[in-house]
Amino acid sequence: MSYLYVIDLDETCGEPPGSPIPDGTPDSALIWVSSECGYFVPYQHVRECVEKWNELGYKIAVWSRGLPRYVYSIVSALFPKVPLLFVWTIEECSLVDNNYIKDLATVVQMYPQFTGHVCLIDDEKVQCDYNTTHGFECIQAPHPPFRYRYTDYMFWHDLAANAIEKMSNTQENRRKYPIQKT
Ligand SMILES: [Mg+2]
Repeated sequence: MSYLYVIDLDETCGEPPGSPIPDGTPDSALIWVSSECGYFVPYQHVRECVEKWNELGYKIAVWSRGLPRYVYSIVSALFPKVPLLFVWTIEECSLVDNNYIKDLATVVQMYPQFTGHVCLIDDEKVQCDYNTTHGFECIQAPHPPFRYRYTDYMFWHDLAANAIEKMSNTQENRRKYPIQKT
């Protein structure tokens, strides 16, 4: 049975335009978005992790709360080699208590073959809390503070390592990256 990772963009795969660029970021890693926005800065290991998942047979989708033009411009540059199941934007979100929520129920309605085999990776607590409450697996991506260097961010590296050990090792990821309660 294939497993689906639904991954967020901003502050999960990288820093959104307007953020400081961490020390040690190679120019080749930067993604130009537009003259109004500037660069999106992918975190280290995100590309290699997602490409490895694809090789291992995982399905991958991107779901950002951004507007379609913004999302598509980043995704096409970030994952050019990966066939994504879908790329969703704010338009597929559900408005819940004034929040644009990525409801994984919407995903399994459209792709029922992934029922019980889907995990959201997102930095936003509200997204993880909502979906966890409704019985879905989530991994909350940590925010790397910018005093760090580009090469200090190991989140995606660790996810890739876990993927080799076990196809749906979300329990281990949850232990390492627990949802932060405020
Ligand atoms: Mg985000």
